[in-house]
Amino acid sequence: MHNDENEEHWTDHAICRGADPDLFFPIGYSAEVLREQMDAAKAVCANCPVKAECLAWALRVGEPDGIWGGTTPEERRYLRRTAEAPARRRLPVIVVRGDASESEHASAA
Ligand code: SF4
Repeated sequence: MHNDENEEHWTDHAICRGADPDLFFPIGYSAEVLREQMDAAKAVCANCPVKAECLAWALRVGEPDGIWGGTTPEERRYLRRTAEAPARRRLPVIVVRGDASESEHASAA
């Protein structure tokens, strides 16, 4: 029988366990303070062994708030948009090799 209780979960290895939740849900009273708070949370995430799993989870559930997997909500929205965007069609490369009259002048000289 499958026993989920004995299985490890990526959150078991999160280094933010027990950390102040406010650190990961920054509310700055100015853009500069907010940036400092986000950078502090991201610094913790940078050393987390489950950063990739955390980010994947946040993207999958569409977590709208907080720092997850070292990303801000705006960065996750960008990641989701780019992942959902259709692949761009490659445009043909057109090589322009100078003016034909120029090459005639060059060969005549
Ligand atoms: S990546 Fe950051 S938010 Fe996610 S578990 Fe690790 S420390 Fe916590």
